[in-house]
Amino acid sequence: MRFVDPDRYSALKATGKLPSPKGVAVSIIKLLQRDDFRIADLVQLVQSDPAIAGRILYFANAAAFGRSRPIASLQRAIVALGSFRVRDLVIGLSVMHSHKSGLCAGFDYENFWGHSLATGIACQELAQFAQISSEEIFTIGLLARIGELALASLFPDEYSEILLATRERRDEIAALEQQRFGMDHLELGATLLDEWGLPDVLIQAAYHHESPDTAGFADGSRVQTLTHSLSFASSLAHLCMVDEASRWSLLPALLARAARLGIGGDALSELVDRMVARWREWGAKLQVRTQDIPPFAQILAASPPVRHMGSAADSENRRVRSPAMHVQLIGIPMAELKPLMQQIEELGHQPVLIDDTPEDLIQALRRPAQIIIADMSLPGMKVADFCRNLRQTPTGKESYALLLASPDNESRILEAIEAGADDVLLKPLNVQTLRVHLNMAARMLLLREEMHRERIGIMRSTDEFAVAQKRLLQDALTDTLTQLPNRRNGEDFLASEWIFAQSSGASLACLMLDIDHFKLINDKYGHAAGDAVLRQLADILKRTSRAEDMVFRYGGEEFAAILTNTNLRVATQVGERIRALVEKAEFVWEGQHIPVTLSVGVAITTGREADSLALIKAADAALYKAKESGRNRVVAA
Ligand code: GH3
Ligand code: MG
Ligand code: MG
Repeated sequence: MRFVDPDRYSALKATGKLPSPKGVAVSIIKLLQRDDFRIADLVQLVQSDPAIAGRILYFANAAAFGRSRPIASLQRAIVALGSFRVRDLVIGLSVMHSHKSGLCAGFDYENFWGHSLATGIACQELAQFAQISSEEIFTIGLLARIGELALASLFPDEYSEILLATRERRDEIAALEQQRFGMDHLELGATLLDEWGLPDVLIQAAYHHESPDTAGFADGSRVQTLTHSLSFASSLAHLCMVDEASRWSLLPALLARAARLGIGGDALSELVDRMVARWREWGAKLQVRTQDIPPFAQILAASPPVRHMGSAADSENRRVRSPAMHVQLIGIPMAELKPLMQQIEELGHQPVLIDDTPEDLIQALRRPAQIIIADMSLPGMKVADFCRNLRQTPTGKESYALLLASPDNESRILEAIEAGADDVLLKPLNVQTLRVHLNMAARMLLLREEMHRERIGIMRSTDEFAVAQKRLLQDALTDTLTQLPNRRNGEDFLASEWIFAQSSGASLACLMLDIDHFKLINDKYGHAAGDAVLRQLADILKRTSRAEDMVFRYGGEEFAAILTNTNLRVATQVGERIRALVEKAEFVWEGQHIPVTLSVGVAITTGREADSLALIKAADAALYKAKESGRNRVVAA
């Protein structure tokens, strides 16, 4: 996580333009910085602002699930919530209240707070799934995007331009912010939240929530759960803010994120509907823009939006004039450039000129337009290489690459087509042919888009989605060669069993199993034979393991078994049984008998390990001893 450089931050602060909590919130921050603050003082401060007092009461009651009598006194509400959560809540509400509008023309303040409030409330709904306190996560939901508001306040004009330029490519905004301001909204947001004293885990979650999978948090850790929850909440909020037509396309990603948190089916529908109802209610209370959303089940069941075709005359027009597209022009000789651009514009498309320098070409490959027109005589890079590179990225795959060739290029045309070009036009160009080919390109692109949508449409209903999601998840957790759980899956299992063993005092055993001289098997019988041995061994391991245990492929020719509720003596016996079974088993490949033996290391929890992975390390150390002392044997730690 990165923060803005302290000197730079002081200078920004001195401008007085940074968003900040106001009024009572400032006094509360100050009060809670003292070690000797008294609850009575906090109560008094909150009381001095009736609007805030009312909201605190409301929150305390909303948090008190299943309580029979409502909390009526502010003092009890504050005690129930905890002083620091009260502080965070007041900060969130205060920042929102005092920054409902601003000077940045390209920044939609109403949309921002509508989305932020929806995120906060969605976070709260997730709290019960993620086992986190619902008030602190509400605040971080509300303030997760505060860095964007801060940039809009600091640099209203420049930020407007950036927002406009990245409207279609949201994922590039941070890079542009860095370029322009030497910091991005995530850094600036984290710096603000840190200054306001929010807990570090919450700041981490806000910082990473846009791409939670690249944060590198330990699987199953609290900060990881928080970040994923926030990320899902933000997607859900997005769904709440957009119009009906756009809603549909957001569903796949949203469902995938929900599945990641283990929420699906009816639970998800209930969660979303409850969240939307509370969002509407709070929006009205806090004067934040919300909109009415149909029940989630209905959104899921809806058909994909049909593009509005208009009258017969309109569709006639469409046939003549395809929708406007961006057309990148690459390597076009100077003399031909001007007429070509003119023709493209006349056809209603937008030409974008790319320079021939390697940097510009790479940039174009990174951000390919819908249509690319490249000249075969492109200096600096072979056109075939350009096409091949283009087809490496998901957006590049979707682009339509049209090549311009002169008759003497003909020998290289085939190569370029093979490398992924869609079409070739021979020079000299005339308007009529260009028009036909550009229309063809536009139609191809539409068709691709339609097919894409149809593919998603097939998985429309919740059940199909659930099945597809489950399969995706299954794939991500399974080793393809052996169909055993993969290492990540095994380590997750170990981590959860380890926590259970820690708290219940039961012992947990780990076996590490490694094929002896496997390299020799590969060398002598070939890699395919080696693979077959791995598969067959996996089958033996599957057959010998109990339902409550997990055997997984640790990597290469190493396997691991986690045995629950098992002591060292029994675990060693299990290891010995597997070792003997493998020694006796018939491994046959193309008629040849392959002798296979295993070495096994055994360890159990002692209650003194720093974490679950220490158990694997201990078993691995024992395995090393088994190898050292002659192989084909079991050694207990
Ligand atoms: P040791 O008895 O000390 O364990 O010797 P070893 O040869 O089994 O161990 P080493 O770690 O030196 O070599 C493991 C070999 O396993 C090297 C690698 O090429 C091979 N291997 C790893 N994964 C696969 C796989 O998926 N399929 C095949 N066929 N071979 C694999
Ligand atoms: Mg080996
Ligand atoms: Mg090995």
